[in-house]
Amino acid sequence: MLARAESEALVERFRRYLRDRRLPVTRQRIAVAEILLASDDHPSVEILRRRVVDKGEHVGMATLYRTVDALVKSGLVRERDFGEGFKRYEPAREPSEHAHLVCRRCGGVVEFANDRLERMLRMTADEHHFQYERHRVEIHGVCGQCRTRDLRGVFEEPHNR
Ligand SMILES: [Zn+2]
Ligand SMILES: [Zn+2]
Repeated sequence: MLARAESEALVERFRRYLRDRRLPVTRQRIAVAEILLASDDHPSVEILRRRVVDKGEHVGMATLYRTVDALVKSGLVRERDFGEGFKRYEPAREPSEHAHLVCRRCGGVVEFANDRLERMLRMTADEHHFQYERHRVEIHGVCGQCRTRDLRGVFEEPHNR
């Protein structure tokens, strides 16, 4: 979870964004914003929907999509596409430059930042006479927890027979 004060400040900025554009500031929109702006696990719209339901809020799919869209347009939320066939979302924070490890087994996403990697990518751009603007790093594979589970499966199987 993000620090509470930080996510509350983001929700306040979203309220202002809606008001400035004369968009309705409804309880449903704010509920969606509160949940998404406090999350740090890159939820999909489907996961977001479940969390909204768990909080006892009634938000239709159209409103959910529209709110997520407004959050992305406001710059408060970043859209991520890890090539899984659906989009994920995360609050835009500083520092914005971070890379992701994506587990194909459980769908877990872990963030990491690496100064050396950052420098190397900028140097690579230089070497190719590229003016660096941004980059995206994703590592796809199987996370430690899933690997442990797999290994346990291998060792435990004979006992189950
Ligand atoms: Zn996993
Ligand atoms: Zn992230």
